[in-house]
Amino acid sequence: MQALLLAWFQTNGRDLPWRRTRDPYAILVSEVMLQQTQVERVVPRFLAWLERWPTVDALAAASPADVIREWQGLGYNRRGLNLHRAACIVAADGWPEDLTALPGVGPYTAAAVANFAFCRDVLPVDTNVRRVQERTGHSFSARSAQALMDLGATVCLARVPRCNSCPLADACPSRGRRYEPVRRQSRFEGSFRQRRAATLRLVAAEERTLAELDREAVESLCADGLVAVAGGRVSLPA
Ligand code: SF4
Repeated sequence: MQALLLAWFQTNGRDLPWRRTRDPYAILVSEVMLQQTQVERVVPRFLAWLERWPTVDALAAASPADVIREWQGLGYNRRGLNLHRAACIVAADGWPEDLTALPGVGPYTAAAVANFAFCRDVLPVDTNVRRVQERTGHSFSARSAQALMDLGATVCLARVPRCNSCPLADACPSRGRRYEPVRRQSRFEGSFRQRRAATLRLVAAEERTLAELDREAVESLCADGLVAVAGGRVSLPA
């Protein structure tokens, strides 16, 4: 099965900019952006980020305020701040053996960086990879990571898999099955997440007084280190 998958990937794999490098910093940036943002939206933002901060040292030297501004529109802004904190640690001490020691790096992101940058024999299991493994009942090696991700993202879809164009169909016990709709992410419209995002956007544009902002959102942003409050004024962290 793995041979079939890898042969399919040779001609059908997605050409993504973070796949053209083994630079752990660039790969970490891509993986953190991809945690909760779709691939199509991440591509231009990843390229812009690398142009602005091409190395881990360059990002470490940036101010948190600039990093938060650059992250605007990607959502879940704490990711940007954690990426900056991780860059500061790596710039000072190098890459840790256990990548989960870095802020914002969980087991999946650590496995992805370990595989794609450091060529370690570890399979990063995201929802796409897990789905293909479960449906085929096959245990793929770390070498198949990107191929599994692409098959899960473009062929072995969550609800109606495209088994007719799947390279694994002949050997797959789940061929032809349909699945229940997957649980959708909670609505953004009208959510507290939206209020936080709107408040952060205002502060990113310019320093504001506390009185003109959503106080609850400011408190939450402040607790996450995304804004600073002093003398009744709210600004991005210095
Ligand atoms: S045959 Fe269908 S269910 Fe099986 S891996 Fe391919 S797309 Fe997924």
